[in-house]
Amino acid sequence: MTTRSAATSQQGLRPLEIPAALTVSDLADLMGVGPVEVIKEFMRNGYMLTINEVVEHSIAGIIAPAFGFGVLPLSKAKETTVAKADEDTEDPELLETRPPVITILGHVDHGKTTLLDSIRQTNVVDTEAGNITQHIGAYQVEFSSSPITFVDTPGHEAFTAMRARGAQVTDIAVLVVAADDGIMPQTVEAISHAKAAEVPIVVAINKVDKPDSDQERVKRQLSEQDLLIEEWGGDVISVPVSALRGDGVSDLLENLLAVAEISELKANPNRPGRGAVVEARTDKRRGVVATVLVQSGTLRVGDIIVVGDLRGRVRAMFDDKGNAVESAGPSCPVEVLGIDGLPNAGDTFIVAEDEKTARQMTVNNQRERASRSHGPTLEDVHSRIESGEAKALNLIVKTDVQGTIEAVRGSLERLNSSETRVTIIHASSGGVTESDILLAAASQAIIVAFNSSPEPGANALAKQQGVDIRSYDVIYHLVEDVENALEGLLEPVYEDVVEGHATVRAVFSISRRGRVAGIHVNDGVVARDATIHVVRGRDSVFTGSISSLRHFKDDVRELTAGFEGGLGLDGFDSFREGDVLEAHRSHRVR
Ligand code: GDP
Repeated sequence: MTTRSAATSQQGLRPLEIPAALTVSDLADLMGVGPVEVIKEFMRNGYMLTINEVVEHSIAGIIAPAFGFGVLPLSKAKETTVAKADEDTEDPELLETRPPVITILGHVDHGKTTLLDSIRQTNVVDTEAGNITQHIGAYQVEFSSSPITFVDTPGHEAFTAMRARGAQVTDIAVLVVAADDGIMPQTVEAISHAKAAEVPIVVAINKVDKPDSDQERVKRQLSEQDLLIEEWGGDVISVPVSALRGDGVSDLLENLLAVAEISELKANPNRPGRGAVVEARTDKRRGVVATVLVQSGTLRVGDIIVVGDLRGRVRAMFDDKGNAVESAGPSCPVEVLGIDGLPNAGDTFIVAEDEKTARQMTVNNQRERASRSHGPTLEDVHSRIESGEAKALNLIVKTDVQGTIEAVRGSLERLNSSETRVTIIHASSGGVTESDILLAAASQAIIVAFNSSPEPGANALAKQQGVDIRSYDVIYHLVEDVENALEGLLEPVYEDVVEGHATVRAVFSISRRGRVAGIHVNDGVVARDATIHVVRGRDSVFTGSISSLRHFKDDVRELTAGFEGGLGLDGFDSFREGDVLEAHRSHRVR
């Protein structure tokens, strides 16, 4: 490695501006050299990296001179513009009315799909013969000269899964209830999901053509769920329909437009587009095809878009009738070609100014995802409420039998005081389902389960989403835990995890700083902030923190398996060759 000082090494080098972090491949692009050359140069400097790995600004700066570049210091100003680009700082003057976006929710077989088809068929303003309607994940119809957008994956799971990924695309939820069946468990779930998302609900009482339909029973059952319809003095609109025959569909659309008008849905179409992915797939011929819903601004062919940690230049766009379009404004669903990977439904997208900004944004998103904090745990509820991060403790209550719900609800609601509030966003009997987990993830809620355990798949999803599930078999313990959480009396629980092992290969004396160990990392990772246990034979002879960790002459944040380096400990230097260093970290489990 070069020993020239940083100042001299910058002489004669071309200045290179790079973001705080970037992939090896992007760094190679910026310097106009092959990625393999860059990887080799990193290897010469002791960094084993792959082409897609993200490197920090400072690390990139080490190898840039080998290619004739001097990396400029990070510009703070640039960093903030990129971070802020995502914020909606909209002047009310620039806002224009936009079409409402509707999602249809309800119990299975109550007629959601039939209703979506019926709306589409009766309202396709398509005069060209032979134009087949495409199922792209969302569609737009026109009613009384006003466009209305429908998300065409019905059901609250899809709706909440999108919310859990950060997208709230729905403005109004249509709750379909079959009049012959009445309110069923998934209807109750759908109501909780719509309420948690704070979207207005319009009820479509369906299958009124059936002889055994009973609209009055549905209305009564709705009132039991705190949905009081207008006819009964409430503010919930309900419309009788027969999705199968198309009866009442116009009435429903008219009411949706009325609710939209009250909601004053607005967006500025004259800015770079942003919105959310509603569906994505890989097509053999066209590559990645993502249906996105533009939420504000206008998306155009040729735009550079960033979707989570993916990006791409919009190559072509198609509307829900398969027509190629050049641009799409607010509430418009379009298929987009050109994204460099498969995004998820619910990923948000934003148009970037240029390639460089896009690159920086994907890296920021990547990092944010890596460091994204988990949902709340019962242990940190108190601090979240105290710091203003949360206004209330959101709970989902699951019980073994229906009869217990009210008992649990009553005991929990008694804990409400002027300072703290418990909000039960959903309560039902049965096992903890994946849909419960998604709702908890989307609403920053904790699941309290009384004599109810997670269904298959739900545990894994809870882990992935960072959702806290607390199980109890005594109601008193459940209530006591929640009470203690609100008062900040519940202590976090930590678990000790061994992250890696290293062997001491040599011991060096470094004058004043005592002795350091020359180590080889056998497995896992030894990180600068880990706690080290020095193990000699069968005994642990010392436990403490690292004072220095180096790879050659460089201070490093970690050494991974296969690497060698120097390690010093705080308060211990009597290393011996053959000592095993165990790197520990305590992980918060609750
Ligand atoms: P989803 O599971 O909620 O999407 O329900 P579907 O739309 O698949 O409908 C379930 C069944 O109910 C199908 O056999 C439909 O034909 C039938 N159905 C839907 N709407 C109506 C209706 O208004 N009247 C009658 N009689 N049947 C309906």
